[in-house]
Order: sequence, then structure tokens, then C-alpha cells
Amino acid sequence: MSFVIPAPAAASVRVAGAADGALFPVHRIYCVGRNYAEHAIEMGHTGREAPFFFMKPADAVLALEGGELPPVGTMYYPSLTKSLHHEVELVVALAKGGRNIQPENALGHVWGYAVGIDMTRRDLQNEMKKQGRPWSIAKGFEQSAPISPIRPAALCNIAADTRISLDVNGSLRQDSVIGKMIWSIAEIIAHLSTAWTLAPGDLIFTGTPEGVAAVERGDTLTARVDGVGALRLRID
Ligand code: MN
Repeated sequence: MSFVIPAPAAASVRVAGAADGALFPVHRIYCVGRNYAEHAIEMGHTGREAPFFFMKPADAVLALEGGELPPVGTMYYPSLTKSLHHEVELVVALAKGGRNIQPENALGHVWGYAVGIDMTRRDLQNEMKKQGRPWSIAKGFEQSAPISPIRPAALCNIAADTRISLDVNGSLRQDSVIGKMIWSIAEIIAHLSTAWTLAPGDLIFTGTPEGVAAVERGDTLTARVDGVGALRLRID
């Protein structure tokens, strides 16, 4: 079989500690909206609505290097916005897919975890919400999903008190714990699988805690989930 134009390169993410440079191939990127009550409240909601889902294209990933103090990667400030917001999130990477996955079996589908940032053109999102239009322009642009290397699940230690944080130029902006998620990782996988057929290579951004705010050109962001990984990113 041949392609009539050159086939696009598959999107991929680094794997933490992979001596052979092995990569995790990305199939789809699902994102959960309003999965921490305090963030829902800061966005003008009660914090009690059921979370919902949106997507980014697979090639929105910006695969960064990891480490205790990772090298600083670069993200270009996107067009059309004056309000580029950070949303630090725990990312789940699936090894196995399926439909109607039961919550009690869901964690068996996970290959590993990473820390990611759901970069958002907030001014465009607010405008689209006001007009009742889709959010794709706010969430699904190039480089809108910076992500650390994925650490295999068996090497991660994720508990209710696992800290998730983001600082900008050394000042803390977001600081919470995974236990504050409204829906657990297993529940998110189960619910997603009722709406889509999940597949190996799917990434799930599991929602952000409170403290989202704008960044400017020249800012350096550090995002961290303890026991999972960290990333550093400069906005150019
Ligand atoms: Mn988000």
C-alpha cells in the first residue's frame, strides 16, 4: 500500500527512564472539564456539576524531557489570544482500550502517568462559550498539550495526598492534591468508555485544580505531580 502524499509522523511522548529511547505513541487526547471543585467555582460554577469531556488533536502534544529538575523546553505563544492560561493536570496513558469498561477494571487499562498542561486560549474560550460555539479554537491548537515523559504505572505512587502543582517564574500558582478530583481516575476511564471506544495510546488529561491564570512571553512554567514527574517550559 502507498500513500498519495507523505504520511504524517505519528505523535508520541517520551517514556521516563527508557534507556533505549522508546516512545509512547499517541492515539487520541481526551480532557476532563471541571474535575476539581475549587477550579469549577473559580470558573463561575457551583463545583457540583458532573465533569464533561473535550478533545485535543494527538499532535497537540509537546513532548518535553523529564528529570528532577528537567531541562527547559520551549512553547511558542499562540496566535489570536491575549490570555494564554495554564492548567496543570495528571495525565493517564492507556495501554488497553475498550468500551463500557467497569470502574473496578479500569486501572488495569493504564500504561502509565505523566504531568501535562492543558494550555488554553481563555479569552477565545470565554467568547465561544458566550456564543454557544465549540471550544476547539481555545483548547486544540498546536503545542496546547505540553507533557512530561510518561512513567510506567508500577513505578508511580499516586495516592489521595499526592501533590499536583505549577509555578510560574518560581511563584506558586496551582497547588492541590489528586484526592480532590471529583471523579477518580477509574471513574473517568469508565465514563469515557461509555461515549468513545478507548484505544491503546489514548491520553486522558484529568482536569485542573484552582489557580489557573495567564502567562506571558518569557515566563518559565514548572509543573509537577509528585511520584509521577515534572516538566519545565518557557513561553517564547
Ligand atoms: Mn483542563
